Amino acid sequence: MSVILSVFERCGIPATEYAGGTLSVFSPIDGSEIARLHETALDDMPGIIARSQSAFKAWRKVPAPVRGELVRLWGEELRAAKADIGYIVSVEVGKIIEEGLGEVQEAIDICDLAVGQSRQLFGKTIVSERPGHRIMEQYHPLGPVAVITAFNFPAAVFAWNAAIALVCGDPVIFKPSEKSPLSGIATFRALERAIQRFGQAPEGLVQLVIGTMPHGDALVSSPDIPLVSATGSTRMGRAVGPKVAERFGRRILELGGNNAMVITPEADLDMALRAILFGAVGTAGQRCTTLRRVIVHEAVKDVLLEKVLRAYANLAIGNPLERGVLVGPLIDAGAFAMFEQAVAQAQDQGGTLLTGGTRANVEQFPGGYYVTPAIIDMPAQTDVVRHETFAPVLYILTYSEGIEQAVEIHNDVPQGLSSCIFSNNMREVEFFISESGSDCGMANVNIGPNGAEIGGAFGGEKETGGDRETGSDAWKYYMRRTTNTINYSSALPLAQGINFG
Ligand code: NAD
Repeated sequence: MSVILSVFERCGIPATEYAGGTLSVFSPIDGSEIARLHETALDDMPGIIARSQSAFKAWRKVPAPVRGELVRLWGEELRAAKADIGYIVSVEVGKIIEEGLGEVQEAIDICDLAVGQSRQLFGKTIVSERPGHRIMEQYHPLGPVAVITAFNFPAAVFAWNAAIALVCGDPVIFKPSEKSPLSGIATFRALERAIQRFGQAPEGLVQLVIGTMPHGDALVSSPDIPLVSATGSTRMGRAVGPKVAERFGRRILELGGNNAMVITPEADLDMALRAILFGAVGTAGQRCTTLRRVIVHEAVKDVLLEKVLRAYANLAIGNPLERGVLVGPLIDAGAFAMFEQAVAQAQDQGGTLLTGGTRANVEQFPGGYYVTPAIIDMPAQTDVVRHETFAPVLYILTYSEGIEQAVEIHNDVPQGLSSCIFSNNMREVEFFISESGSDCGMANVNIGPNGAEIGGAFGGEKETGGDRETGSDAWKYYMRRTTNTINYSSALPLAQGINFG
C-alpha cells in the first residue's frame, strides 16, 4: 500500500486527491481499497463544457505543428513516468506488469504518431468542371471532444484520443472509468506537466471529470460537444449512440468484440499456440480484442488441443506484479460472476469443459478474483458463444469443409472487432481477408487478434460500433471538412451547365 501511495505522489496525485472522497477505487490484486477520489459535482458539468468551448476558440488558431509540440512534450513526460504509470495500471486493473508498461508505451507511441500527424492534416485538390476554377478540401478543428473510457485500457485509450484531438485543434474532456480512474489521472497529470512546459495553452484545454454514468451522460447529451469518443460495453454504446445521434453529434464508439482465430489444416500450429495463449489468457481475458473463439479444422483439432491444454496446465496465475506470472485477477466480483455463469451456460448448451472454469486459489490474496482460464469445446455456436463474456473463456468450434465454412461460422456473431487466420495456404489467407471473408474491422494473418499497433485504424463493425480511432486516417473523425470551390476567372459559369437567366 505504501508503495502505491508514493507512486501516486510521484505521478502528481496527492493525498488530498486520493483520500477523503466518495468514489472508492479497489485493487483487483487483493480487493483492497486504494483510493477514495473526489467526484466532480454534476452541477459543475455545464461550466466544464463552457470552458472547453472557450479554449476551443483559442486553440483552433494555434498552428497545427505548434499544437504537435505540446503532444511531443506529453510523450516526453510519459516516457519519464512510464514505470510509475505502468505500475498503477497493474495495481488498479490487475494486468501483469509487462502489459501495464506496454499500455503506457502505447500512449507514448500515439504521441509520436500525433506529432507527425500535426504536419499532415491535409485535404485534396480536385479539378473543376468549370474553367478558371479549382476545388479543394480543408480539415478544420471540430470542437471539444469528450473521451469516456473503459476500465481495461485506462491510460492508452485516453492517449489514443487526446493526442490526436489536440493536434487536430480540439480541447478534450476526459472521463475515465470509475473502476480504474487512477491510471487515467496519472496519464492526465503527465499531460498537465507538458502543458506547463509548453506555456501557451488556453485555460480549459484539457479537463478531467471524475465520476460515473451520469457524468458521462452530461457529456453525451451536450450539444456543445461535437464529438463523443466512448469506449466500453455494447450496453453503454446502445445508450450513448442514439443520444449523440439525436442532437446530430458525431461519435466514435469502440464497443465489445467476440474475436476469433481460424486454424486451417495448413496452419503452423506452434505459432497458433503462442498466439492463442497471449490472445485468450493475456489481461485475464479482459481485452476488447481477447481471443474468444477458435474455429479449427477437424483434421488438426486433436493435435492443436493437446498442445493448448498442455500449455494451459502450466499457466502461472497470481500476483500480476510478480515477473513470470501470466494471468492476473479479474477486475471484480461482478466479472467473476459473469465468468462462472458463462462456463455453466456453455455446458448447459452442450459444451464440454476441457480445462479451467474455476476460481483459482491464490493464497496470498483471498480477496482477489483469480480464475483458471477455461476452454470449452462447443458442438455449435450457441447463444453463450455469441455473447462477449469479459473473462478468459475460450470456445472451440470445429469445421470440416473448406475456408468458406470457417468464415461462415466466424461471421455469425453480432460483434465485429478483430479476427485472424493461421494458415500458410495463400488461397485461404486471401479469402479470409477478402470482401467475402472476415467481417471484422481487423483481420490478421498468422498473428493473434489482440495487441494491435497504433499505426493502423482501430475499431470494428456491427455491434462493436463501426468507428475507428488511432492511426491511418482516423484523425479525420476529429476534424470538420470543408469543400472550397475557388473561382479565379472573371466569369461566373454555373455547374452542370445551368444557364440562369
Ligand atoms: P462499461 O460500458 O461498463 O463502461 C465504459 C465507460 O462508459 C465508463 O467510463 C462508464 O462510466 C461509461 N458509461 C456507462 N454507461 C454510460 C452511459 N449511459 N452514458 C455515458 N457513459 C456511460 O465498460 P467496461 O466494463 O468499463 O469495459 C469493458 C467493455 O469495454 C468490454 O465490452 C470491452 O470489449 C469494451 N472495450 C472496447 C474497446 C474497443 O476499442 N472496442 C476497448 C476497450 C474495452
